[in-house]
Amino acid sequence: MTAFAYAAPTSVSDVLTLLDDHSRSGEPTQILAGGTDVMVQMRSVNREPRTIIDIKRLEETNRLEVGAEDIYIGSAIPSAQMQEHAELKALYPGLLEAADLIGSTQVQGRATVCGNLCNASPAGDSIPALIAAGAVCDIATASGSRELAVEDFVTGVGQNALATGEFLLGVKLRRPQASTKDAYLRFTPRTEMDIAVAGVGVSVSLDGAECVAARVAIGAVAKTALLVGEAAEALIGTVLDEASLQQAGEACQAAAQPISDKRGSAAYRRKVVGVLCRRALAVARDRALGQ
Ligand SMILES: Cc1cc2nc3c(=O)[nH]c(=O)nc-3n(C[C@H](O)[C@H](O)[C@H](O)COP(=O)(O)OP(=O)(O)OC[C@H]3O[C@@H](n4cnc5c(N)ncnc54)[C@H](O)[C@@H]3O)c2cc1C
Repeated sequence: MTAFAYAAPTSVSDVLTLLDDHSRSGEPTQILAGGTDVMVQMRSVNREPRTIIDIKRLEETNRLEVGAEDIYIGSAIPSAQMQEHAELKALYPGLLEAADLIGSTQVQGRATVCGNLCNASPAGDSIPALIAAGAVCDIATASGSRELAVEDFVTGVGQNALATGEFLLGVKLRRPQASTKDAYLRFTPRTEMDIAVAGVGVSVSLDGAECVAARVAIGAVAKTALLVGEAAEALIGTVLDEASLQQAGEACQAAAQPISDKRGSAAYRRKVVGVLCRRALAVARDRALGQ
């Protein structure tokens, strides 16, 4: 690994100042959260010297709050800490399922969902789950902060909507009603420590047995995770019976733009994403029905 400079500021303004100073002088910087992508990439992908800016000492990035209306997950909160939060797990089981799939127990002690999001891998597991949950990015900017829906945050493979000088403070979620539940399923060739061939995050809201709102997002089958509006449309107004789940699955297959690689052909990925959609919806439906 190449030598690098390291800074661990303790305030948002100090992070922003560091980003601004380095940008003006043309010196590269990189934000460090859990480091489970950064460290690997520094060894094998990009060995250029840089200043690493560790954001784990900020009060704001260490917020994990479940309030009466809103939920906040700071960008320094590792997956393991989320898993220990019983109320968060009960409210967003699908998001927690996705975070629980990231790496091993050791990796989850460091890896954050915000790091997963910023890294912007097409196969990032938490991204479809965050989109299904309707999560919004809380971005620190020189003039304060701005918000952006997660589905608009990832702009390409390894690319996100953060402008120079900005960083992600955390993600915000609405506290869901008891009749709103999510689920996340992925398929990998190996059972452990592999990345998704396809992944699907869903959220459904029921009134009695009728679906009144839905969000379906697919991962690893396009350059970025995609929110599939047509899948939601196939579900709203139904009782989430087999026919509507089938239609939603077909909408996901139609929206997918998969590649072929060593993990699976494009045709295989397209098939799998439809199956995962149906299965994830059945899980979310049963959760919302309290079953
Ligand atoms: C063994 C192993 C297994 C893995 N398995 C999986 C898996 O199954 N599924 C999966 O999706 N991923 C997997 N990963 C990848 C990685 O663990 C995840 O992407 C993780 O969530 C990254 O979070 P992090 O906090 O470690 O991010 P970091 O490595 O700290 O950062 C990742 C990227 O995001 C940027 N960044 C981080 N935080 C911010 C911020 N707040 N603002 C701006 N930019 C920021 C960094 O600069 C960097 O470019 C695996 C990694 C390893 C090493």
